[in-house]
Amino acid sequence: MNDLNRRNPCRLPMLLSLTLLTIVGLSILWEFHLEAYVMHWLNLPYDGDFEDAERWRFVLTSSGFSMISLIVPTIVLKRMVTSTQLSYRRLQRIQFQTETLAKYDSLSALINRRGFMDLLCERLAQHRCISIMLIDLDHFKAINDQHGHSGGDGVLVEVADRLKHIARLHGGTAARLGGDEFCLLFLDYRDERELSDIAATTIQRVSEAFVEPSTPVRLGATIGISRSWIDATEASALLHCADTAMYRGKNAGRSMFNFYDNEYERQLRAQADLDQALRHAVEREEIVPFFQPIVTLPSQTIVGFEVLARWARPDGSTGMPTDFIPILERLGLIPAMTRSLVKQACRAASFWDDTLHLSLNVSATMITDELFPDRLAEQLRHERFPYERFEVEITEEALVGNLDAAQRNLSKLHAYGISVALDDFGIGYSGLYHLTRLSIDKIKIDRSFFEAGSIDHLPMVEAILGMARSLKMKVTAEGIEDFHLPYLPKWLAENGCHYAQGYLYGRPQAGSTIAAAVHAPLTVCAAAQN
Ligand code: C2E
Ligand code: CA
Ligand code: CA
Repeated sequence: MNDLNRRNPCRLPMLLSLTLLTIVGLSILWEFHLEAYVMHWLNLPYDGDFEDAERWRFVLTSSGFSMISLIVPTIVLKRMVTSTQLSYRRLQRIQFQTETLAKYDSLSALINRRGFMDLLCERLAQHRCISIMLIDLDHFKAINDQHGHSGGDGVLVEVADRLKHIARLHGGTAARLGGDEFCLLFLDYRDERELSDIAATTIQRVSEAFVEPSTPVRLGATIGISRSWIDATEASALLHCADTAMYRGKNAGRSMFNFYDNEYERQLRAQADLDQALRHAVEREEIVPFFQPIVTLPSQTIVGFEVLARWARPDGSTGMPTDFIPILERLGLIPAMTRSLVKQACRAASFWDDTLHLSLNVSATMITDELFPDRLAEQLRHERFPYERFEVEITEEALVGNLDAAQRNLSKLHAYGISVALDDFGIGYSGLYHLTRLSIDKIKIDRSFFEAGSIDHLPMVEAILGMARSLKMKVTAEGIEDFHLPYLPKWLAENGCHYAQGYLYGRPQAGSTIAAAVHAPLTVCAAAQN
């Protein structure tokens, strides 16, 4: 009835009039004709001498009552139905608005992550070939920082418009997954070339200048592409593939697109496992100090040891610093590792002759940390290791990044009585500036000067030794090996080199194996004396 009413509002009064007519007609029929027949047929007494007026009164009364009993409930019912209908419609409208809000991004009016995932799941369930391009804006944070959030919002809206346009051109759908992350979704198979063209156009369009913030800005975009017919058939897995491909681009320099490659993902996982293993290694002190002897010239007796980090892996193998130090740098774990090495090294050295020195390699991030000298001094004091027997080795690369901070720190170390050696000298910047202006006590000539067959480097070594003499600095020659015998140690001593280090005098070894050697006479190699 409600439907009827809605479609044709005249229908109800018509229906009521018709009913009224029918009731009146039936009453007349009854009163004037049928009543006598029925009474007679039922053999009941019937007095037919009624006045017509009485009959009409009956007709009107019965019709009137019938109408009242029909109209009142109808009106009440109609009101109830109308109000139920209104509530229902209001509910439907609210539900629609809620769903729209939940599936659309209010800023860009693109579908949001939920809307996108719903669409992706739906299309994948229909076994459609789908490709997705995950687009992450490059350096968007700088726009927010420079132009505030309203400027950033303006840029996002314009990016959304550009992506909508690209999606329309290529029969795709654009979505904003959150923050500065967008996505383009294409149905049906598209070959690699077509997808590459779309991705390249997208990067180009996003990189064009924006007009919204007061000063025009430029952005970039990095895109990861995944395809359902190659990479994954499940929505979240497909998105994850695009994400991995996008991160590959971010790591490789941004403003580029990449297709998902599972070999790259395998490498990423291996890297993540290694990162995790190294975090544990630092925590559990699996990074241990090895010690390589440093001898004085010409006597070639051990005066100290360089502390070299080794990873004593749980499986018994040993990891080399060139493999794990760069990872620890990235993970920000060098300070923790160094602290642990200092502790272990000092404890090992407490069993040795108390004249021996320790030399510690210090990375760029640490040497420019203004708390480093005090923390190191505090740790040495705690370990009861005299400052005068401790040395830090730094490379010139470590100095150039933040020269002022490094200079302050080197002076502080000096003030404590800790000496400083410039490591790998001769292969880097080798600027005289560093030698004259900074508090450096010693230079360590890089081992590449003493590689097999490179005798031509000796004039250079001679020049370095001359320079160090004028600057009143000590010198250590690194990388002295057996094949340098018998001439090199003697030549170095004659030319004013104070110390030597290398396999000739000993390889880096664990603290436990050093203990015996240093309790014996400190001369290392009889042959080397020649
Ligand atoms: P480095 O400071 O120049 O250390 C000397 C490297 O030369 C050591 O390699 C040592 O084993 C190697 N070596 C010593 N004598 C000879 C020789 O006669 N011939 C040859 N061919 N090599 C020799 P290692 O232990 O693999 O260390 C490599 C680099 O890792 C070190 O170079 C240093 O830069 C870094 N490193 C090691 N331990 C630490 C550490 O605790 N902290 C930091 N920041 N860096 C470290
Ligand atoms: Ca060193
Ligand atoms: Ca070195």
